[in-house]
Amino acid sequence: MQTISADKKFRAAVITETGNGGFQYGIKNRNLADLPAGGLLVRVRYSSLNYKDALSATGNRGVTRNYPHTPGIDAAGIVVHSDTTDFMPEQEVIVTGHDLGQNTSGGWGEFIRVPSAWAVPLPSGLTLKESMALGTAGFTAAQCAQRIVEHGVIPADGEVLVTGASGGVGCLAVALLAKLGYRVVAVTGKDHCHDWLRTLGAARVEGRQEVSDSSGKPLLCRKWAAAVDTVGGPVLETVLRQLSHRGIVTAVGNAAGAELNTTVYPFILRGITLAGVDSSACPAGKRKKIWNRLAGGWKIPGLDTIVRVVTLEALEVEVQAILRGNIAGRVVVKHA
Ligand code: NDP
Repeated sequence: MQTISADKKFRAAVITETGNGGFQYGIKNRNLADLPAGGLLVRVRYSSLNYKDALSATGNRGVTRNYPHTPGIDAAGIVVHSDTTDFMPEQEVIVTGHDLGQNTSGGWGEFIRVPSAWAVPLPSGLTLKESMALGTAGFTAAQCAQRIVEHGVIPADGEVLVTGASGGVGCLAVALLAKLGYRVVAVTGKDHCHDWLRTLGAARVEGRQEVSDSSGKPLLCRKWAAAVDTVGGPVLETVLRQLSHRGIVTAVGNAAGAELNTTVYPFILRGITLAGVDSSACPAGKRKKIWNRLAGGWKIPGLDTIVRVVTLEALEVEVQAILRGNIAGRVVVKHA
């Protein structure tokens, strides 16, 4: 077993305040002693880029209160030291969500130290790299699929919609729901992604006009047995009015806005369900079950076509791209 001294230096992306209200991305040597005490020390092999990471990396105080800070809400790596018997040195683990990368130093550093309850053993059937191709995005897509299945929606009930389909959560939801046998309709603002989304399993790909209705009508033509909405705002308002009787929409994100103006009519006349999905505080038992599913019967095919692998150096540009909604698929961060 490898012993690592407390003053060991490691490389990490560090976001610092510039003093004029701005924030700067840099790569620095940090010291293990800078990490929180106790818990599980993990040598991070892979991390990833999520929308929330980009917010943290650009000074969003709703995500990260104090800077300097190392973002990265996802990390996969090898246990170096554990203060419980739940994990052994050399064991491969996944850490996603909780406070990782928000106010706890995250996966964009070569080491993290976290409470052991935040970690999940890497299930057999997934490599560390595949686990980060999924990351919080895949975990969230799987939670959405689970809600839809538990709600009793079956493929024969009709089409299932995914909005923000080229994004991290969106593309993985398309691929997973198609694998589960649903006829998936992917909505994207990126014309160049239509063929790729069909390759992932979408039966139909539409532009954003499919879910943009400003008529003010409380109910629209019934289109979807279920939906995964990753963008919120006016898109979610439209989807609620398009759901079929007893349909369900899982609300995941707010890329298009946090406001939600609706009426009770879709709820009381069509019996629809609006189900919120929260990944960061998902309880440990449920978290482990979902990762095991993602490594087994729900393993998403074609992860290689969904992922680009980048270094810490390339991440600064990717942060700006995801904030502009310009990234298709998942960005995995590989540490040296
Ligand atoms: P991405 O940036 O990868 O994907 C978001 C996608 O939304 C974009 O690629 C784009 O897809 C679409 N989009 C962006 N801006 C707009 C707009 N103005 N109007 C309509 N569509 C838009 O982000 P993630 O997949 O990582 O996350 C998606 C959302 O889910 C984020 O808001 C994130 O914070 C949230 N999230 C929430 C989680 C939870 O636990 N609740 C967990 C993970 C993420 P396209 O061009 O294809 O339309």
